[in-house]
Amino acid sequence: MALTDGRASHYCHLVGRRELTLGLAAVLLVAAGCGSPPRQAILITIDALRDDHVGVRPAGDSLTPELDRLRADGVRFSDVITSATTTMASHASMLTGLRPYRHGLTGNDGALDPRFVTLAGMLRTRGVRTGAVVSSFVLRSQGGLGAGFETYDESFDLQEQTRVGQRVKTPAATTRAALDFVQRHRRESFFLWVHYFPPHGPYTPPPEYLHEHGKVAMASTSQPLAISAGNYERGKVPKYQELNGIADADAYRARYAAHVRYVDHHVGQLLAGLREWGLYERALVIATSDHGESLGEHDWYFCHGNLVYQEQARVPLLVKWARSQSASGRSSIAPVELVDVMPTVLGFFGVPVPGDPDGRDLAALLDAPRITPDRVRITQSTDGELTAVVLGPVKLIERRGPARLVEGTYPQRQLFRLDRDAGELRDLAPTEPALVGTLVGLLPRCRQPVRQQGLAGETREQLRTLGYLDGPSAGEPCGDAPDAPPPR
Ligand SMILES: [Zn+2]
Repeated sequence: MALTDGRASHYCHLVGRRELTLGLAAVLLVAAGCGSPPRQAILITIDALRDDHVGVRPAGDSLTPELDRLRADGVRFSDVITSATTTMASHASMLTGLRPYRHGLTGNDGALDPRFVTLAGMLRTRGVRTGAVVSSFVLRSQGGLGAGFETYDESFDLQEQTRVGQRVKTPAATTRAALDFVQRHRRESFFLWVHYFPPHGPYTPPPEYLHEHGKVAMASTSQPLAISAGNYERGKVPKYQELNGIADADAYRARYAAHVRYVDHHVGQLLAGLREWGLYERALVIATSDHGESLGEHDWYFCHGNLVYQEQARVPLLVKWARSQSASGRSSIAPVELVDVMPTVLGFFGVPVPGDPDGRDLAALLDAPRITPDRVRITQSTDGELTAVVLGPVKLIERRGPARLVEGTYPQRQLFRLDRDAGELRDLAPTEPALVGTLVGLLPRCRQPVRQQGLAGETREQLRTLGYLDGPSAGEPCGDAPDAPPPR
């Protein structure tokens, strides 16, 4: 790997200058590795996209033909959980390779402690151009995720329909900004993170998508739901999701599906741009989501961040490596967590992974002789109030504190067998105390290890108005999750 420090691309530019002698130019070319093609990686995060809405559905159709094309050129990981069901916390885990209880950003509040060097920061010091395009105010640069990015596009062109003060980017604007970065740096090594806001609620796709995918809404016979006065209330439509007085759950589900189809089209435009410039084949492209979305499971509707059940924890993950590393069209059932994004991107650039991250390079899994089911995975809700450990087919959920975003009566511990009970409906905790004890021993002993950076009062107030801050959060002394027990 030629890009060993930040001077490399500078030297590459120098050799193009006429005043250099031929000999000096040749020396610089070799030293900087200018002869090797640039390496380019794009991380696409699609907010609140459920895994079961990606790919061909049982009825034979697909809401995501563009992501399906990407999948055909790469690998689909089918057993993937996020490290947090909250937007900021999840993205911070992707960019640091650490779980929220280690990097300390556990909700949409606060900011990432600058002592955590992000993926972008590591690559930038090695001469890789770094850019981000984010599409929601929640991912504001004040939250610290902009660290290491030379450009961090947080301009917004749309006022959200239901929440005053919530500014977002339309997917067309997201793609435009991303392609602008790509065009400027297409001859250089770069890492670009592109965040799309849909299908995050409120589900407001353009009418043509509703006509195509909203048929369910017309034929719905589901019971009408009440509208909640807040954003987290069991059995009700969250206030910010309410659209035109609609009370029919199936109508919202159809809108969510249409929103998925809408964002997929615009992701396709981004990939088409890469193909047009001849960058697609040799680029690393990762497409995933920060968390899922409850669509009525466990009687929770159109929300995320408050639970760690699979409907919120499970996410899609498609990885297309450069052609030389290609494993086109493969699927992997290896247990994966979103903290794996950082080591995977670093591995692509040939950069050693520093420290002791929670994630691992997914490229290593491609050639693994067999899947290792003993991996301990952890996911958590906002501020770690609910924390889950997943080991093979078993999953333990522990409530830590009052669980403000759920209910005071939420069970202390729940145990599920995901292979026999994918819907997490049969709590085995009362009958499996030994297994519960083993899994409790694998949980991190804390909710957040470091003091969160203070938010400016105005920003805090804005987040509170939007319903992102529903109460105080509390930390506890922290220890790390122990390693997995040896496989039996
Ligand atoms: Zn999100």
